[in-house]
Amino acid sequence: MLATDPLINLEKGSAHTLPKQDECNSSRNTGCIGWFPVRLITWSCSALKYLACEASEYFHRPAKDLEQRKIKTVFVGAGPVGLWTAIQHKLNNPDADIEMFDKHSTYTRKHTVRVDLDSFKGAKMNLGLKFLKMKIQHLHGRIGCNVLEEQLLGIARELGIKVNNDGAEVTEIGPDSITLKDKTVVKYDQLVGADGAHSKMRKALHSESLEKGEAVDLKALGREDKNEEFSMRREIQYRARIRYQVKGDTKRLKSTWLSWMKHYYPVSKLFGSPVDEHIGPLKDNGTRTITLDFFVNKEEYDALYKDGKGFNLSHPAHLNDLPASLSKKIRTWQELKTRNGEVQVPDSTEATPYALMYFQSKKVTAVTSEDKPVYLVGDCATALPYFRSLNNGLKCANTLGASLARGDKKPHRASALTDNYDRLVNLRARKEFVVARIKDRAVSLLNGTLRWVNRSPFQLNYFKVQPAEG
Ligand SMILES: Cc1cc2nc3c(=O)[nH]c(=O)nc-3n(C[C@H](O)[C@H](O)[C@H](O)COP(=O)(O)OP(=O)(O)OC[C@H]3O[C@@H](n4cnc5c(N)ncnc54)[C@H](O)[C@@H]3O)c2cc1C
Repeated sequence: MLATDPLINLEKGSAHTLPKQDECNSSRNTGCIGWFPVRLITWSCSALKYLACEASEYFHRPAKDLEQRKIKTVFVGAGPVGLWTAIQHKLNNPDADIEMFDKHSTYTRKHTVRVDLDSFKGAKMNLGLKFLKMKIQHLHGRIGCNVLEEQLLGIARELGIKVNNDGAEVTEIGPDSITLKDKTVVKYDQLVGADGAHSKMRKALHSESLEKGEAVDLKALGREDKNEEFSMRREIQYRARIRYQVKGDTKRLKSTWLSWMKHYYPVSKLFGSPVDEHIGPLKDNGTRTITLDFFVNKEEYDALYKDGKGFNLSHPAHLNDLPASLSKKIRTWQELKTRNGEVQVPDSTEATPYALMYFQSKKVTAVTSEDKPVYLVGDCATALPYFRSLNNGLKCANTLGASLARGDKKPHRASALTDNYDRLVNLRARKEFVVARIKDRAVSLLNGTLRWVNRSPFQLNYFKVQPAEG
C-alpha cells in the first residue's frame, strides 16, 4: 500500500519505509516512497525553511566593496537549461562575468518539446525572451528543442555571455578551475553543471573529491549512471521507438475521423497503447522515415534492452530481433499501411527500447575545498517524464540565476546559497514526482483499458490482418 503512495521520499538518506523486495532487486530503481502524512509534513517544513532562508538572504549584506572583485561563473554544458540559467544570471546582474562551454557546435536534440508559459513566471524578461515567449505561444507551446536552444544562444550572446561551443569539451573539474579537452585551464568562482541526463558533473559531485581538493577526470568516469547518484530513481513506463523507410508519400493512420475509427483505434487496441506516428520529410533518395512511438510491456522491453547491454539508438534492433508479440504488432501496422498505399523499403525496420523514468540527484550542490560553490541544473539534477523535465529545469533555472547573481555580490555566503538552492530543487522534485505518478496512473488505465477491450469477445470495431511473412 505504502509503496504505491505517490509522495516520494527525497530527504538525504531518510526512509520511512523499506523498498519493496522487487524494487531492491531492480538494478535501475532506487529510493524509497514514504508514508503520505509524513511526506506532507516534511515537505511543508522544508518549504517554510526555504522561504525563511530566502528572506534572510535577501536582507543579508553584500561583501564590503574592498573585498569585491569580479566573480567568474563557468557553465559546463550549454543546452537550453544551461543557457536559460546564464541569461537569468546576466539579467539579474548585468555586470556578471559568465563563460559557458559545450562540446557540440550544433545542439543534438531535435525532438519537439512542450514548453509551459508558466515556466516564464518568475523569470526576468528582456526583449529577446519576450519575443521567444510570443513565438512559443504562437506555436501552442510546441517548439523543436534545437530551435529553442538556438534562440536562447542568440539571446545569451547578445547579453555578452561568452559561449564556447566549438568542441569545448570539459574533461577535468578541479576545486577552482576546469580543464578543457585542449588542456586550456579556466578558473572559476562559481561553477554550474548543466550537462544533461547522463551528467559527468553529477558523478564528479558524488565522488566528493572537489570537497577534498582533488581534481576529477571526467573522461575516467563511466557513462553508466549508478544508483548511488540518486536519492530517487524510478522507471515507470517502457516504450519502443520503431523507424522504417517508405518510398514517396504516405498518410498518417489517423489522418481523418473515419481512418481514426476504422484503422487507428483497432490498431491501438492491438498495441495496447496509443501509437504516435511521425512522418519525416522527403529525402534526396525519394524516401521518408516513419517513426512510431508506443508503450510496451516490461517483458517486451527487457527482451530488447537486455540489462543495458542490448539495443539502443546507435545500435537498434531489427525485425528479426524482436520478441514475437512486438514483431506481430509491427507487421500488422505495416501490412495495414501497405493496404492504404504505403510503399515500404524492405528490411528497413529498426526498433529501440527506452524507459520513461524520473530521478533526483542525491547532491545538487557542493562547496569545494577552495570555497567555490558548485550547482547542478536541468536534466543532470532532476529528470521527469511526460513533458515536464524541461519545464521543471527552467523553473529551477530562474531561481539559480538569481542565486548566482547574489553569489557575485556575496561570495562569502557560498554554503548558505547552495543549501537554499538544494532545498528548492528537492521541493520542486517532490511536487513534480507526485504529478508524474498521477499522470502515470492515467496512462496505465488507458493502456489497460485498450488491452482489456482487445481481449473482449464482443467487439464492434476490430479487424483481423494476416501479417505478411518475413
Ligand atoms: C524524446 C524526448 C522528448 C522530450 N520532450 C519534452 C517535452 O515535451 N517537454 C519537456 O519539458 N521536456 C522534454 N524532454 C526533456 C528535455 O529535452 C530535456 O529536459 C532538456 O533537453 C534538458 O536540457 P539540459 O540543458 O538540462 O540538458 P541537455 O539538453 O542534455 O544539454 C546538455 C548539454 O551539455 C553538453 N555537454 C555534456 N557534457 C559536456 C562536457 N563534458 N563538456 C561540455 N559540454 C558538455 C551537451 O553537448 C549538451 O549540449 C524530452 C526529452 C526527450 C529525449
